[in-house]
Amino acid sequence: MSRAPERFPEKLVDKFGRTVDYVRISVTDRCDFRCVYCMDEEMEFLPRDRILTLEELELVGTAFAELGVTKIRLTGGEPLVRKDVITLIENLGTIQSLKELVITTNGSQLVKLALPLKNAGVKRINISLDSLNPKKFKELTRTGELKQVLDGIKAAKAANFEKIKINAVILKNRNDDEVKALVDFSADNDLDISFIEEMPLGVIGEHDRAEAYYSSDNIKADLEKHYTLIPTPETTAGPSKYFRVAETGARIGFISPHSHNFCDDCNRVRLTAEGRLLLCLGQEHSVDLRAVLRTYPGDINKLKSAIVDSMDIKPKGHDFDLSVQPLIFRHMSHTGG
Ligand code: SAM
Ligand code: SF4
Repeated sequence: MSRAPERFPEKLVDKFGRTVDYVRISVTDRCDFRCVYCMDEEMEFLPRDRILTLEELELVGTAFAELGVTKIRLTGGEPLVRKDVITLIENLGTIQSLKELVITTNGSQLVKLALPLKNAGVKRINISLDSLNPKKFKELTRTGELKQVLDGIKAAKAANFEKIKINAVILKNRNDDEVKALVDFSADNDLDISFIEEMPLGVIGEHDRAEAYYSSDNIKADLEKHYTLIPTPETTAGPSKYFRVAETGARIGFISPHSHNFCDDCNRVRLTAEGRLLLCLGQEHSVDLRAVLRTYPGDINKLKSAIVDSMDIKPKGHDFDLSVQPLIFRHMSHTGG
């Protein structure tokens, strides 16, 4: 049942008192890479009719904004392989109350799309980069070419985004020897960097997550052999904990879902490419917004009602345990990382 328009709250608050003002929207489950921690080599992608249309995605974005959400991140899969994604971004960019419209990308399409993205209203982008060694980059992404991504980063810099952040997932014995190189690359190019601990989302062939686990504390200890890291109280309204490198002033973030649980301050929800609203990255509590969209096409009040009601089932938090795999059967590419 949908409520009368005047009965909608100005903001979304869950039953633990946390305000949700940030939504991450996966615009596709498809990707041109097959990163070893994210996807199987042979992935089966969703048929097109199960994916939300661009119009449906725009309506969801508008509904969230009308409920007080001020930040939308587009992700995937690889958001920039979705046809006409720039049109969606342009349309979302016209929502007055949105303070931030941002995107996470693997960088492969940025040579052609960095400028259109900037012109469509995206101010900040995150680019994933796990290795600066072409051979290792290929091993980690299975299908990616390092040069294409480095050229993409150049194109993004030339497009003058307010901020560009590198995201790196570090795996033991695969790229843990590149932590300093990635920090130096980011400093040299005036980019922020965040290191992300691998999360157990989906079963991936031969990949043993417990074996590959490399904690934020390990990464910090590696860096402290070369640099002095000073903790800073800076926040980007997210789970990153930040440090400044005393010698260069560069900023480094650590996203540590295992070693430092960040659920108490959770301010976000996620929409999968097929329209499932996930209330927690590490739990299965969800609401099927596609069913609402397709039962009541174009009815934003029905959508807003479902979103408001979903706050009642947002769980208190997640608890990743690498010894009991798989905890969550969906891959990160479905979740919208
Ligand atoms: N394709 C885009 C990209 O790679 O940036 C956006 C989607 S990707 C799922 C978003 C982020 O999630 C990337 O930075 C990626 O490295 C990260 N990621 C993917 N699988 C992960 C996992 N199992 N644990 C932690 N981070 C993961
Ligand atoms: Fe694709 Fe991003 Fe997943 Fe890598 S992490 S396979 S680039 S969706």
